[in-house]
Amino acid sequence: MNSTKIEWCDMTWNPVTGCLHGCEYCYARRVATRFGGGDEDGGNHFLGKPMLKPNYSVDPYPYGFDPTFHRYRLGEPYQRRGQNIFVCSMADLFGEWVPDEWIEEVMKSCLLSPQHRYLFLTKNPGRYMKLAEAGKLPEKDNFWYGSSIPTPTTQFWWSDRHNTFASIEPMMEAFQPAGDCPVKKVGWVIIGAMTGPGSKYHQPKKEWIEPLVEDAQALSVPVFMKDSLIPIMGEAGMVRDFPWE
Ligand code: SF4
Repeated sequence: MNSTKIEWCDMTWNPVTGCLHGCEYCYARRVATRFGGGDEDGGNHFLGKPMLKPNYSVDPYPYGFDPTFHRYRLGEPYQRRGQNIFVCSMADLFGEWVPDEWIEEVMKSCLLSPQHRYLFLTKNPGRYMKLAEAGKLPEKDNFWYGSSIPTPTTQFWWSDRHNTFASIEPMMEAFQPAGDCPVKKVGWVIIGAMTGPGSKYHQPKKEWIEPLVEDAQALSVPVFMKDSLIPIMGEAGMVRDFPWE
C-alpha cells in the first residue's frame, strides 16, 4: 500500500495492475511505463511473489501495463490502521479481461480487514452489475463502488444495496441533470479536470460544473472537487465533501 496525492483517499493499494481500456489521457500507463521494466504482450499475468529488476529492486510493473495479479500484495491491508483505500488505482479491476477469481480474492482480502474503507473505480460498470447478480459484490457500508464517467452518455452503476459514486474525471462535457444523470442516483460525486500533456485543450468550464454541483447539493449528494478544478473555480468556489463525514 502507498500514500497518495489523490485527494479523495488516504492510500492506494494495487493487488492488480494494468488496464486494456487504452484511454489516451491515462496517467497510470505513463507511471507503469516509466517505473516498470518488462515487456507487454497484451495478456494476463500472475505473480505469486515480487519480480526483481537486474539491480535486485522490486519491479512494480514487470509486465508494463498488461493486467497483472500481484497476489503477494493481498495481505497488505491487514496490519494497517483504518484508511480510505483506493483499490487498484493502477488498473481497472473490473475490466472484462479480469478473471472473477482475481476479483474474488481481492474482495476476500478486503473483508478480512474491515477497519478500512474501500473505494473501487471502473470504466466498465456493467461488471459491477454482473458480479452483484452473482452475489460476488460485497454489500458492506465500508465498500464504495465508483463509475468513471467523463461524459454524460457514459454508462454508470448505482444500486439500492451498495454504496456507489460517480467520478466525473476528466470532465469532458456539460452534464444535464435530467433523466439518468448520475447525481440523482449515486451517493457521492467526484469532479476533476484533465491533467498532464495536452490537458490545457480539454479543460471543463465553470458553467458546466456549477449547475451539476447545485443539483447534487439540492439532492443532498456530497460533491468532491479535485484540486485540478482550483484554476477554474478558485479556492473559494471549491467543494470538498465526503459522504462518510
Ligand atoms: S480506465 Fe483508467 S487505468 Fe484504464 S486506460 Fe483508462 S485511465 Fe488508464
